[in-house]
Amino acid sequence: MAIVAGIDIGNSTTEVALAEVSSGDGKTFLASALHPTTGLKGTVQNLRGIRLALGKAIEAAGWDRGDFGKVDLIRLNEAAPVIGDVAMETVTETVITESTMIGHNPSTPGGLGIGVGVTVAYDDLRNQARDESVVVVIPGSIDFEAAAGAVNEAIDRGVNVKALICQNDDGVLISNRLSRPLPIVDEVSAIDKIPLGMDSCVEVAGPGRVIEVLANPYDVATIFGLSPEETKQIVPVTRALVGNRSAVVIRTPMGEVKERSIPAGEISIDSPNGRKNVDVEAGAEAIMNLLSVCHPITDIFGQPGTNVGGMMERVRTTMAKLTGLSIAEIHIQDLLAVDTMVPQKVVGGLAGEFSQENGVALAVMVKTAKLPMQAVAEAVSEDIGIKVEIGGVEADMAIRGALTTPGTDRPIAILDLGAGSSDASFMKYDGSVELIHLAGAGNMVNTVICSELGIEDPELAESIKRYPLCKVESAYHVRQEDGTVRFFDRPLAPDLFGRVALAISDDILQPIPLRVSMEKVRMVRRKAKKEVFVTNALRALEHVAPAGNVRMIDHVVLVGGSAKDFEIPTMVTDALARYGVVSGRGNVRGSEGPRNAVATGLVLSYRGTS
Ligand code: ADP
Ligand code: MG
Repeated sequence: MAIVAGIDIGNSTTEVALAEVSSGDGKTFLASALHPTTGLKGTVQNLRGIRLALGKAIEAAGWDRGDFGKVDLIRLNEAAPVIGDVAMETVTETVITESTMIGHNPSTPGGLGIGVGVTVAYDDLRNQARDESVVVVIPGSIDFEAAAGAVNEAIDRGVNVKALICQNDDGVLISNRLSRPLPIVDEVSAIDKIPLGMDSCVEVAGPGRVIEVLANPYDVATIFGLSPEETKQIVPVTRALVGNRSAVVIRTPMGEVKERSIPAGEISIDSPNGRKNVDVEAGAEAIMNLLSVCHPITDIFGQPGTNVGGMMERVRTTMAKLTGLSIAEIHIQDLLAVDTMVPQKVVGGLAGEFSQENGVALAVMVKTAKLPMQAVAEAVSEDIGIKVEIGGVEADMAIRGALTTPGTDRPIAILDLGAGSSDASFMKYDGSVELIHLAGAGNMVNTVICSELGIEDPELAESIKRYPLCKVESAYHVRQEDGTVRFFDRPLAPDLFGRVALAISDDILQPIPLRVSMEKVRMVRRKAKKEVFVTNALRALEHVAPAGNVRMIDHVVLVGGSAKDFEIPTMVTDALARYGVVSGRGNVRGSEGPRNAVATGLVLSYRGTS
């Protein structure tokens, strides 16, 4: 009899399965545990996480947490053939060479509506003739009472004041003192850059609404009498203004706004058919199409001196350091590209405007000939004082673990959806296994969420990925993202009111510190999951399916941390149903859910007590 611990060191989680193996090779599972992986997968830094996870399992089995002596053998996965890196490349940029627009969301714009007129400096207001239509530009040095007074006086004299643009945050204060309501855009920091004597249009939307006229190129063309050619030029401006509560567009004859593309570099894919190149700017679809005809991929390079080039080099350098191999021996084996929108500061904007630029998120994966796992095994053995051996390859172990899901049988395919990679394996009747590890999984979803919503906090992105949304509509009820209403017995915290929040649990709501609608967050979240996991599920299964035909697979079991997600399994299942494939979330050993498949497989593949 021996106590065996199967330990799976993942990019994100270290999982343990602890079992008693009898002399007849019967296996009784005693406990499972997990702990976040410490350090980069496949390095000796993993040791701490292994100790913690193993300690938890030993404790769960009824012994003392530190009693490592109870364990006779540790079986590690042959991990670390992969490290992933995820990066964002922005491929377009909006540049304003002359000030042409202001579009932002001051928290309290004043007034309401649309005003069209010629821009006039505050100091020049008294020189304006009757019936002249003007938009007054008020610098921060003018006090709001004085400003309102001067505007009222001009109006009395018959000047047609149409709107105001001010530097300070006092739109509401001025508005309250005017003899007639005017749209006011405030908090315009670079007010001195506003060109004077030019035709302009100011739009302020009502509470809870967004501007409509200035976000529509044809309305802008109507206001300024633009030619079709000029209308085309204004499109980047209107695009940048979409979703704002207030905006100004100033027509400067010399002004130029353009969308220019940033040379993001080329990706070169090597395969036995030679080298093929694709521009990152061509977008995710073009990149993935090229990738699918390069089979098997022997290496991938980024054009030196560009962003992609830098990213590929970073991956190679990290991996070279990790393994002690030379950079030339490190080969990139897979890549996943996803199109994204990235909010970027408009170059030359007047009030910190952002525009949704196009971007491409890339995840890459490296495979080395020599695995650094032996070093980890030796370090674990020395540190804990237990014999350590390296079991099988992750995807192979995962399928053995997944087969303990009640109701499953060979032939079977699995998808192990983790943090860094999406792995698939297919086991035939005879037990032979085909497997593949592909770049892109949970981490990439977080990257896309971060970039599309302009978030910098990785924990917030992780929470947005994991929890459904709601909008707190009153002290006692929320509107959930599926449209239903939920009532509470006790009043909700005041800081939640009117906010979009995450439903962390039945009674914990966490407000999202972003000024975006629930619909937008939901759309970004679902799109990111779909583009990463549905794309990878199909790619992976095509690789392992008999004759590359996904339809030849009957059953797919989903395992790994991302299979715990509240919507990823459904998205994958829906996509696979179109190929006549039945799929669902695994339940390892009938008790672990989609977790612990690799660790369980490591125990099950143990042969004999030698
Ligand atoms: P690895 O094998 O690479 O260590 P895991 O199988 O532990 O990865 O999966 C980690 C991934 O699973 C992470 O991207 C994490 O965000 C995601 N994940 C873990 N739990 C959940 C959950 N409850 N809902 C959604 N995603 C989850
Ligand atoms: Mg894993």
